[in-house]
Amino acid sequence: MSGQSVKRVVVAGGGTAGWMAAAALSKQLGPLLDIVVVESDDIGTVGVGESTIPTARTFNALLGIDEAEFMRATQSTFKLGISFENWGQIGDRYIHSFGQVGKSTWMGGFHHFWLQARAEGFAGDLGDYCFELQAAKAERFFTDENAAINYAYHLDATLYGQFLRKMSEAAGVRRQEGKITSVRQRSQDGFIEALVMESGEVIEGDLFIDCTGFRGLLIEQTLKAGFEDWSHWLPTNSALAVQTRSTGPALPYTRASAHRAGWQWKIPLQHRVGNGLVYSNAHMSDDEAHTLLLEQIEGEPLTEPRLLRYRTGRRRKTWDKNCIALGLASGFVEPLESTSIHMIMIGVTRLMQLFPFDGVNEAVIARYNRLAEDELEKIRDFIILHYTLTQRADSPFWDDCRTMDIPDSLVHRIALFRDNAQVFQAPGELFQVDSWLQVMLGQGLEPQGFHHMGRMIPPGQLRRALDDLKGNIAQAVERMPHHQDFLDRYCPSART
Ligand SMILES: Cc1cc2nc3c(=O)[nH]c(=O)nc-3n(C[C@H](O)[C@H](O)[C@H](O)COP(=O)(O)OP(=O)(O)OC[C@H]3O[C@@H](n4cnc5c(N)ncnc54)[C@H](O)[C@@H]3O)c2cc1C
Repeated sequence: MSGQSVKRVVVAGGGTAGWMAAAALSKQLGPLLDIVVVESDDIGTVGVGESTIPTARTFNALLGIDEAEFMRATQSTFKLGISFENWGQIGDRYIHSFGQVGKSTWMGGFHHFWLQARAEGFAGDLGDYCFELQAAKAERFFTDENAAINYAYHLDATLYGQFLRKMSEAAGVRRQEGKITSVRQRSQDGFIEALVMESGEVIEGDLFIDCTGFRGLLIEQTLKAGFEDWSHWLPTNSALAVQTRSTGPALPYTRASAHRAGWQWKIPLQHRVGNGLVYSNAHMSDDEAHTLLLEQIEGEPLTEPRLLRYRTGRRRKTWDKNCIALGLASGFVEPLESTSIHMIMIGVTRLMQLFPFDGVNEAVIARYNRLAEDELEKIRDFIILHYTLTQRADSPFWDDCRTMDIPDSLVHRIALFRDNAQVFQAPGELFQVDSWLQVMLGQGLEPQGFHHMGRMIPPGQLRRALDDLKGNIAQAVERMPHHQDFLDRYCPSART
């Protein structure tokens, strides 16, 4: 299609997406490529995106990053899951943890045993059988090279960018500061040839990675790849972000507390706390959101609340011609389950796997786009689940969420669980059975039937097995240090 071999890679934008792309490409394919990152200090970055999921550790391993060094440099804390508050009903709380719940068999998930035990009257809470969930509740944490614990990080987005930039520049990536004022296309096929800077300088390339954030300067403003809007399913479109001083030990989980027109995040870092109010501006004015945020935050504000507007949906083509969009330029699903940084990581690893050294062609573009589309749609359904399963009836926002039409794919999943307690992880899907399970039960979706494999176990044995599991988890958690104490030992950062 392009016939032109690919050596010169131009990354437009130096936010989290731009520097993640540059760091990964330079580490894994550096000698084969000539990489430049173009970023504008005047425009800056979005400055949020501080809660991750466990795949962040896979990405760090790919880059050969030392964990303690990374955590010190980015003021990170450990994250074992998300505490959802007021989602099913006001006053409810459940934790979606990164852990496995109990032990499953080939015939069915652990929760079928648990449902059997519950029907017989001796089951604890489902969370009693999940190590990470219990550790989160007890605010404890421990890891070393032998520890079997699944976790992620809370990190400072600006420091993360600087950390990756340092790594990338050491690996030979060139940084070009300045504003891109236009994008030059080849007349015969519309492929991008070069970025033209405010200074007049021209940056030519063979492959362009659009990391210019919501602007989508290359993928949308230039190539007009199109946008599929999902806001009818995910109605929030605004966020007010503010940083506060910490008021106590860092929690090993993110808090996502629902309010009458959206929800609020609280992300504990070593040196401060990140807070944000996510809302639908059709249901709450910016002024009301501002007041609510300032009422609800706990520590002294360190910044002025910053307003961010977004549109939920995906770019119709995340790879178009010789341009691949990563990060916010590729689309956005709200941050409820901290999936955006994961999508950047998947995008860049997939690009490395499919890298078009001998020229860009339609087959490789189609493969990349298909995989990206598939994964994001499943993430979208998982996020919608949190809204559609609410029983809240205290505001027009929740009335709309409770009664909205949802994608057929999600209608099926909900029916499958409600009628049979069956849950599945589709091929290529990020969220595992235990994630679906924790959120469905956490939001009050009670299965009416379940698999009766628990009845095959002799009387008394199921009870003993569950009691042992619960007891072993409780003892293991009891032996762990408090999260803050472990952080202070493992990766202390300067607090200011
Ligand atoms: C409210 C909110 C909360 C979020 N929370 C989370 C979370 O908890 N977890 C998570 O995984 N993700 C989260 N995200 C998403 C996350 O913030 C982004 O995925 C991540 O920061 C990547 O952003 P980016 O690099 O694509 O864009 P940006 O950070 O906006 O970077 C864009 C870059 O492009 C440059 N640029 C733009 N135009 C030009 C130009 N004309 N010339 C030169 N340079 C230009 C800018 O200078 C900047 O360097 C959140 C997003 C929002 C909106």
